[in-house]
Amino acid sequence: MPKADIKGGAQPFNIQDIIIELLNSLSAVRALSELNPQAGNEKELISKALSVLIQNQDMERCSFFILNEDKDLVNLTGLSTSELFGAERIKKKSLTFKIGQGIIGLAALTGEIQYCKNCKTDARFINNNLQHSLDSLPGSLISVPVIAAKELIGVINISHPEAAYFSEWHIRLLHIYKNMMGELITNYRLLKKMEEQIAVRTKNLEAALDDIRKLKEYHESMSMRDELTASYNRRYFYTQIEAALARAKRYNQPLCLLVLDLDNFKLINDTYGHGFGDIVLRDVAGSIREEIRESDICVRFGGEEFVIVFTDIESAKGKLFAERIRQRIASLALKVEEREVKITASIGVYCLYGEALEQPEFDIDTFLHYADQALYAAKAAGRNRVVFFSAEMHGQ
Ligand code: GH3
Ligand code: MG
Ligand code: MG
Repeated sequence: MPKADIKGGAQPFNIQDIIIELLNSLSAVRALSELNPQAGNEKELISKALSVLIQNQDMERCSFFILNEDKDLVNLTGLSTSELFGAERIKKKSLTFKIGQGIIGLAALTGEIQYCKNCKTDARFINNNLQHSLDSLPGSLISVPVIAAKELIGVINISHPEAAYFSEWHIRLLHIYKNMMGELITNYRLLKKMEEQIAVRTKNLEAALDDIRKLKEYHESMSMRDELTASYNRRYFYTQIEAALARAKRYNQPLCLLVLDLDNFKLINDTYGHGFGDIVLRDVAGSIREEIRESDICVRFGGEEFVIVFTDIESAKGKLFAERIRQRIASLALKVEEREVKITASIGVYCLYGEALEQPEFDIDTFLHYADQALYAAKAAGRNRVVFFSAEMHGQ
């Protein structure tokens, strides 16, 4: 839209000029109302608001002085017509004013628009750039306080090289503009505050969910463990063994399953009491855990019976490991009133390997059944021994 060439309030308006000036003002107001307070940071938003003003009005230069935490007015951003049309910004020393100091400070103090028709003669105007000559000072200047919710946000400074340049139109427009800009910045700050609150709440919520997840995991792990020995329980065994068996079949890796049963445990309970029996169970469980690898599975299957699964181990090693566990239990130094008590275990083993791995009908129950039969044979052969399942045990 072409801008009206009106040279200040001193010159008389004709009706065409008035209409053009009115349209320019409406364009500025509309463009300001279309700014999105969610986009960018506060400085970018204010820069955009200033460019709206410069684009739609004959103003040479606009700057924004923001009220900082020390209650000083600090130059945040500025824009001139030449910069708007591509000229490089001339870097100047960033100016700061106290409230009440100079025309900017006066606008901030009174909350009223201050119009300085001639900066070279007006007593309210302070030349902060003393190194600059009088000629480099603006001719006229308007300081517009931006207030939102009764709080001063900052001051817009609008200048022109000519003295007495600005007209009544400019002042009227700036009254509307300053209110809208106050709203815009308030909305921006509210949105940012809400975003921060949402971020904090989201973080708290995530932390709470994390706690719940950990608690759930803890409860799940507890429900998978046996209270007396802290070993995994039968439920855990069934969650793991399917996957272990599937892996063994897929990668053709041998899998050894041991069923371990303490010998004459009823007699131990009957002789030394149930409490001592519990201590024995705890010691045995701890010893087994120390003998196996992290990737192996050991569960208290029930009573005084444990099931151990060695993954990726051929039968010779399986036998060696089983024998080591048997010896470890037999060497446990258990004492009741200074008397040493000996405990032994029988172990039945079944190792799944080679062609047997390819039998699709081979399942967990079969696995347990074969190892159980080997255990039965170990008991029958006199206890305190490791016995491997053999074909002759079938059907026994
Ligand atoms: P075998 O050598 O043939 O296995 O004889 P056994 O006496 O060990 O066999 P049996 O199955 O007759 O006895 C198992 C005993 O284990 C009976 C039961 O009271 C005891 N028992 C099972 N669970 C616990 C427990 O949690 N604590 C204690 N102290 N004893 C338990
Ligand atoms: Mg038993
Ligand atoms: Mg037993």
